[in-house]
Parts: sequence; structure tokens; C-alpha cells
Amino acid sequence: MIKSLDAQSFGRRDFLKAALGTCTITPLASLSLVQLASSRSGSLTKEQRDAMTPEQVIDELKKGNERFRAGKMIARDYLAEKRASATGQYPAAVLLGCLDSRVPAEIVFDTGIGDTFVGRVAGNVVNDDMLGSIEFACGVSGAKVVLVLGHTACGAVKGAIDDVVLGNLTGLLARIKPAIPATKFDGEKSSRNPTYVDAVARTNVALGLGEIRRRSPLLEELEKKGTVRITGAMYNLSTGIVDFVG
Ligand SMILES: [Zn+2]
Repeated sequence: MIKSLDAQSFGRRDFLKAALGTCTITPLASLSLVQLASSRSGSLTKEQRDAMTPEQVIDELKKGNERFRAGKMIARDYLAEKRASATGQYPAAVLLGCLDSRVPAEIVFDTGIGDTFVGRVAGNVVNDDMLGSIEFACGVSGAKVVLVLGHTACGAVKGAIDDVVLGNLTGLLARIKPAIPATKFDGEKSSRNPTYVDAVARTNVALGLGEIRRRSPLLEELEKKGTVRITGAMYNLSTGIVDFVG
């Protein structure tokens, strides 16, 4: 097993050298994801991912969002990324986002195949299976950042505020409801008030971060050691801006 992993990483180093060209001697650690993406035709390698700190990963996500907003996304060769990642994946982050079709994480952060784990569920709620998936991403696969990504005008949050009762959705919305009394807000507290809806969504992200730490000793430990950073953000549907909430 160890031998095959070595062989695999050796193959990836060879591939990277070939992609960078023999005349390029830039040390790997000094290359950002953007530089790498523009100078190679593959996915994130283990060496590249492991060389990054959690803060650098967050910085790269912010830069990717800036490229998205500026309409300057990287021209990706998805087939090359598919080929490069087929034998192994080394994502730098795991994102827990909403089901909403307008918040595709890989697009709003301009990441490629193999760069990020993405779990999506309405209201970006932290349930047992999502928690297990995040533990796999960080504890087994080695991702450096856990990002809970809420968004403006979230229908699930509106549903929770309106106390919607509908099949299995009822149980899902119950996971969002603690964010309602926990939101301090002066003004009309209804799903018709976009400012209020966004305030509850923001609280929902903050409570989600607390849930992750409280219910996963594994992730809490990785965060204490500085191996992993657990953070949240709000995506604005209108502006495309991802606002990190800490
Ligand atoms: Zn939503």
C-alpha cells in the first residue's frame, strides 16, 4: 500500500515537472493555486495541498471568488483535471453549502476538479452524515479548511421562519430553527424582510460552526492543533461576494 502510494506521488511529481516545464525552477510552496492552475493542466497534488496552511487555503478561496466576480475565471481543461485526479484526490478544503442552485461552490470560488470537497443540503445544516463527511475530508483525506457557506435570500431559512410543515422537509427545517431565537434583530421579523432572513441565515452559519466543534471531537482537536481551520461565510446572490464571518 505504502509502495503504491509512493509510486503514485512520484508519478504526480513527474507530471507536475512536465507541466511546469524543465526551465521552470520555482519552488512549489511559493506557487499559489492560481499560478499552478495557469501553469499546469491538472488538479491539486498532495505536495501542493500539504504545503499550504489553512490561512493560505482560505486566501485562495477568496481570490477565486474575486476572479468569479470579475469574470476572470481560469480557463480550465476539465478533461486534464479529470485525468490528473483519477488515481487520487487531495482537496484543500471541505465546504458545507446550501442546496440552492444559485450557489455552486466550485463556480463561485473558481476551483477545479479535485480541489475541494463540497457537501450540499438545504439550509447548509450540520447533520450526522454531513459531519461524518467533513470528518472524512479532514481526518482521513487531509483537507485544511472546513467552510460552512450560507447565502442571502435562502429559501430554507425562509421556510424555517414561516414554520413550514411539509413531509421530510419539516425535520430539516427544525435544524435551522434554533437560529431564529438566537438572532438579535430590530425590525420586522418575517420571511418578507430580506434583511431579517439574511440575519437568521448568518446566525445559522455561526450555530453550524458551533455544532461542528461540539459534535466532533475529532475536528475540534484538529482545529486546536492548527491543522484545520473551521470557518463560515455568507454568499450574496446579487453581488457574488463571499463574506467570511469567522
Ligand atoms: Zn439556501
